[in-house]
Amino acid sequence: MNPTELPIQEIRHRLETELRTHRRFVLQAPTGSGKSTQVPQMIHDAWLAARNRVVVLQPRRIAARMLARRVAQERGVQLGGEVGYQVRFEGAFGRDTKILYVTEGLLLRQMLGDPLLSGVGALIFDEFHERHLYGDISLAQAMLLQRDHRPDLLIGVMSATLETEALTRFLTPCAVLQSAGRTFPVDISYSANAVEVNDKPVWEQAGHHVNRLAKELPDGDFLVFMPGAYEIQRTLTEIRKQPLCRDMVVMPLHGELTPQQQDAAMERYPKRKVVVATNVAETSLTIDGVRIVIDSGLARIPAFDPNRGINTLLVQKISQASADQRAGRAGRTAPGKCLRLWGEREHRQRPAQELPEVRRLDLTEIVLTLLASGISDFENYPWFEAPDAKSLQRGLMLLGDLGALVPGVRKLSALGERLADFPMHPRYSRMFLAASEQGCLPTVALIAALSQGRNLLLPLSDKRKEEKRDEMLGANEAAEVSDFIMQVNAFNLLATNRFNPDFCREWGIHGVTALTAGDLYEQFMRLATAQRLNVTNEVHAWDSVGKALITGFSDQLAVRLDRGSFRCALIHGRKGELRKQTVVRNAPLVVAAEIEERDMRGDVTTLLGDITAVDESWLRELFPADFSETTRTYYDESQRRVQAVRERKFRDLILESKEGGEPNLDEAARLLTEEVIAGRLTLKQWDSSVDRLIERINFCANYCTDYGFHPFGEEEKRLMIAHLCYGAVSYKAIKEIEVLPALWDFLPASARALVDKFAPEVITLPEGSRIRLRYEQGKAIASATVQQLYDAPAQLKLAQNRAPVTFEILAPNRRPVQITSDLAAFWTNSYPEVKKQLRGRYPKHEWR
Ligand code: ADP
Ligand code: MG
Repeated sequence: MNPTELPIQEIRHRLETELRTHRRFVLQAPTGSGKSTQVPQMIHDAWLAARNRVVVLQPRRIAARMLARRVAQERGVQLGGEVGYQVRFEGAFGRDTKILYVTEGLLLRQMLGDPLLSGVGALIFDEFHERHLYGDISLAQAMLLQRDHRPDLLIGVMSATLETEALTRFLTPCAVLQSAGRTFPVDISYSANAVEVNDKPVWEQAGHHVNRLAKELPDGDFLVFMPGAYEIQRTLTEIRKQPLCRDMVVMPLHGELTPQQQDAAMERYPKRKVVVATNVAETSLTIDGVRIVIDSGLARIPAFDPNRGINTLLVQKISQASADQRAGRAGRTAPGKCLRLWGEREHRQRPAQELPEVRRLDLTEIVLTLLASGISDFENYPWFEAPDAKSLQRGLMLLGDLGALVPGVRKLSALGERLADFPMHPRYSRMFLAASEQGCLPTVALIAALSQGRNLLLPLSDKRKEEKRDEMLGANEAAEVSDFIMQVNAFNLLATNRFNPDFCREWGIHGVTALTAGDLYEQFMRLATAQRLNVTNEVHAWDSVGKALITGFSDQLAVRLDRGSFRCALIHGRKGELRKQTVVRNAPLVVAAEIEERDMRGDVTTLLGDITAVDESWLRELFPADFSETTRTYYDESQRRVQAVRERKFRDLILESKEGGEPNLDEAARLLTEEVIAGRLTLKQWDSSVDRLIERINFCANYCTDYGFHPFGEEEKRLMIAHLCYGAVSYKAIKEIEVLPALWDFLPASARALVDKFAPEVITLPEGSRIRLRYEQGKAIASATVQQLYDAPAQLKLAQNRAPVTFEILAPNRRPVQITSDLAAFWTNSYPEVKKQLRGRYPKHEWR
């Protein structure tokens, strides 16, 4: 379509006016309306003229490259001159490039080198609705930069399906622009039954339906969505087999193709065209002429895999929102049709939208990048949407384990700075640095690639054959060494057989997994080369590989707890169990590259997989500072005794422990005190006299703090017991210990003599009778019969006349009649009635 006719032209004028007053804008317009190609040009032409660069951020490499090519073509300039692009491993741009398409992650790295982004006049975030982690962070960084140093910087956010409200709030004050675009209705249908989905590979279904729909609808091109390059290849083969497709142009579109192949997919042909694409064609790229969409409903989506403690790219079902975007691609030029290769019921159960990456991915790499940019206050960082505090914490903890942090601070160590140079997860860069030193990087890179996917080896129904395969893959050498050995051998064997599908089927090797791992391996090797690492396999001993592995997974080191089971203790106080399939069955110390927390009938079991045996000498060589030997003091319940144990540790993981040695006496006193307080040990001499004295002290403290009394509460009790226990290591030593003297000692000397005076145990009434006092909750209580009290004064006070005695007035049978501290009131108000009732029953007693 001619650029001047694109729907986005309707906002050109408003954009120009708004940008005179605003430094930020939000633009929402449907896919295909011209946002990505036209808006950067408008801004450049109208506003920035020739001075500054407009940088357009793209989530995908392929989109960055293709948009740049398209815009260069539209402007009639050479790619790499006025218009250019830059992605991870390549680019075409120069000093004079004025419109530059870059990937989100790349910009963030550039900001590390040039925090002010000098020469950049505008940053445009395209496809922001995809909410990639790097998009979120780059936007936050751009906002900070604009606020603190570059008030002139223009920030624009564009998307097809923006939830503009939250974004507008985040960017306020900002211009909000919308363009309705043009769309035609799309008729959506679902594949008939679920059985078909399970029975046939998705590419076979797609092939069948292309043929069927080609007959049904005579016009329009096809767009088929598949999750990745492999599935696309299979689909192409299927489609080419179909009778009605012989005459059609059938083409792939994905990131791994040559630029020529990618361009070819975008072109119009006299014949009908079928493009089989990944989700680049969902919103990033618009293929003109499409009227029929066939959607597998699948995509390779980055997700955090808690099993591997790392982000992975696995095939997953797309959300309803993504499916709607895909369907919309059929209605750009005329009414269209979309077939979903899944059931309608299943569709309703799919999530409405994908969670943004910031909420679902591992943040370690981002935390590393932020720290490298000098940002450590994540709590006050201007997140568009803040991540879970736990995810940040997990990231920091892992960085600490990898040695990337200065201990105890949120600051990168020298190693951390080095890891930040790598555009990859620090687990891997850490491993690659070690592997480079050890001379085994290719093997380690292959293991890293393999560890991201599913298991390469599948069970075979013919067990004899499975045994033969395992033998062929070096099961014998692998035993007690590493679960990775057979996987590495399987990959290499498959590579020599050119990933032949028949070979895979025969020997139960997962072909797609191997191919994906192969691509990833290539990427890792390119990155390692770019970082000037030693990329040759010089050493073939497994030791060096094992050493490299533990540098990346030192947080998943495990010690076997016993010989009889597969139970292990892990770093950070975790417990786990080796998977039964492991070939490392006897090693006392291992590293697990995969950890799965499985909830089994309410019990959380941690299963450890991808095991490699570890020699303690490797740890000593690599992490000499992380070893410690300490004596731990603990309470042995069965012996009622405090014991000491010598422990040799790697970080918090106990490698070896030996009973014996001297318990720490402070610790022993603390442990015994805990037992006494909890009531599991009783001090025989802690009798009622002790409790009574405590009540009396508390009574004095209630009224006479000025005489040096303090309440004796839980804390005081703990201190006193700890004092009594000091020096003891067994219950025997404290069982008969005297408590009362210690309690007296606990009082300040000045107060000791006053206890009897302020809180006497007995009072003598005027007619001579002696009454015992008891003290409860800060009160003094005297129990006395009516007769004993006839001559008592109206009120009796203790503690320097500050505390009235409470009387529990008893009948002759010693049942309480009333509780009061005001006897005068008793005699006038209650006594007449009491007397009436009791005198008949107790005629022999005196009743005045
Ligand atoms: P948006 O970003 O709004 O989805 P784009 O700016 O990417 O839209 O594309 C606008 C139009 O330009 C598309 O509808 C398509 O017709 C055309 N177009 C864009 N890129 C290419 C290309 N590489 N080859 C051919 N046509 C293209
Ligand atoms: Mg676009």
